Amino acid sequence: MKSLPLFLLLFVTTALNAQSPAYNPQVNLLDVQHYRFSLTLKDDTDRIEGSAEIKLHFKQSSNAFFLDLVKNKAGKGMEVSNVTLENKPLTFSHQDERLNITLPQASPAGQELNIVVQYAGVPADGLIIDANKFGDRTFFGDNWPNRAHHWLPCVDHPSDKASVEFLVTAPDHYQVVSNGIQIEETNLDGGLRRTHWKETAPLPMKVAVIGVAPFAVQLAGEVQGIPVSTWVFTDNREAGFIDYSQAVEVLEWFHTNIAPYPYRKLANVQSKTRYGGMENASNIFYFENSVNGKKEREDLIAHEIAHQWFGNTASEANWYHVWLSEGFATYCTDLYMEAKYGQEMLAERMREERFAVIQYAARRKAPIVDTTVANLNALLNTNSYQKGAWVLHMLRREIGDENFWKGIRAYYQRYKESNALTADLQRVMEEASGKSLQAFFKQWVFRAGHPELKVTYRFDGGENIVEIFVEQLQNSPFSFPLDIQLLDENKKVILEKTLSINKAREEFAFPIQGYPKEIKLDPGAWLLFK
Ligand SMILES: [Zn+2]
Repeated sequence: MKSLPLFLLLFVTTALNAQSPAYNPQVNLLDVQHYRFSLTLKDDTDRIEGSAEIKLHFKQSSNAFFLDLVKNKAGKGMEVSNVTLENKPLTFSHQDERLNITLPQASPAGQELNIVVQYAGVPADGLIIDANKFGDRTFFGDNWPNRAHHWLPCVDHPSDKASVEFLVTAPDHYQVVSNGIQIEETNLDGGLRRTHWKETAPLPMKVAVIGVAPFAVQLAGEVQGIPVSTWVFTDNREAGFIDYSQAVEVLEWFHTNIAPYPYRKLANVQSKTRYGGMENASNIFYFENSVNGKKEREDLIAHEIAHQWFGNTASEANWYHVWLSEGFATYCTDLYMEAKYGQEMLAERMREERFAVIQYAARRKAPIVDTTVANLNALLNTNSYQKGAWVLHMLRREIGDENFWKGIRAYYQRYKESNALTADLQRVMEEASGKSLQAFFKQWVFRAGHPELKVTYRFDGGENIVEIFVEQLQNSPFSFPLDIQLLDENKKVILEKTLSINKAREEFAFPIQGYPKEIKLDPGAWLLFK
């Protein structure tokens, strides 16, 4: 996702997460294969009625397990009426955020079970039920990071992926958009309509949602037979159709340059997400003020489309490695903008991202993978986004364009429909480049901060020698290549070198023609430094 500017986020409250962010204990016990959620939505109440058919695969023998589901407290949350296995009731207890279920006998390892959970309640979070800015009532799933279990019983962790279908019954003045393809839309008696969407690719629950509103819908285009559609609020019909049509060109670029698009359609949806954009699988939600008819959201669209590969399909194995989603989406956007607008656009974007990283580091000293963070939303920080992008950018410099692209594609191919940690990315990149990247990943991903440089030079006119002194001011030295240029009084480059820096203080001497007046560090924007 992409965060909104900070002043908007101040109004957002964050639910307390009872789980350890690192992993959900259920993922060792079972693996959900498929969810089929049937939901009834109404106009006169925010109470939803749900039925979840869940196909479970047991990895270990057990007669008990739990699903994540927030229990009703003070009128908000879900109340479970029954849990069944082959139409026979199961014993369950529901406390706080856990629905504990007991089986009549232990399920052996390898067994698959289909259970059904019937429940109802007013979602405290996760499904945003609210009027849009035009006063129309809307419903939007907004699950990141683990807010799905406010409205859906599930294993709410990105390492357990499952195919998902939603059958929504709602008043017929709404349209419903969701993951996958629409397989039914039927008007029912009583002014109701049933809409059924089904995704066959396994998804992490963070990106499995519905969007329900009076929409204006347009087919914006197709990419290799994949329909790209726009879903905007009816009052934003004209402007929204213009703005979101940019997704066609963006999808084409990623489809061509990363790998075939992993889903069967792409819907771009104006929504009530709390984020700037939320990369729901094949069903991207953008914040409601993203529409103005001026096509000003190209990089937001590119960011969310990049997530369809990185984050949704190749996903972080736990939240601490969320830079594998956000750093990738940020840098893939930079790559798209570079391809479309040229190298100087890339350098400009990298300078802006570097500025953000330096500002952030001044406030908070932490590595990208920071296991001290307790509030998952705090992981949506500059380290995960901009510094993550900078890691990929410097990795590209380290191993060269060809190996970098080879590695990025290989990483996706190996971890698509699966999960990865930073060490997995490192391994793939080492294979692609034939180079050890241990020190690179250690210093940029697992260590806080960045080089803080003081670079001076001394010119001896008699000998035509220039001496360059590089000092790293931070605690312990980083290793990196530093590009420098010396310019004369006419701004002409009279010396251009790449210095290999490994120590706290280093000196270099070069013969030079001309009289240096100025030294430029990192003219191409390839190094994260201050
Ligand atoms: Zn993102």
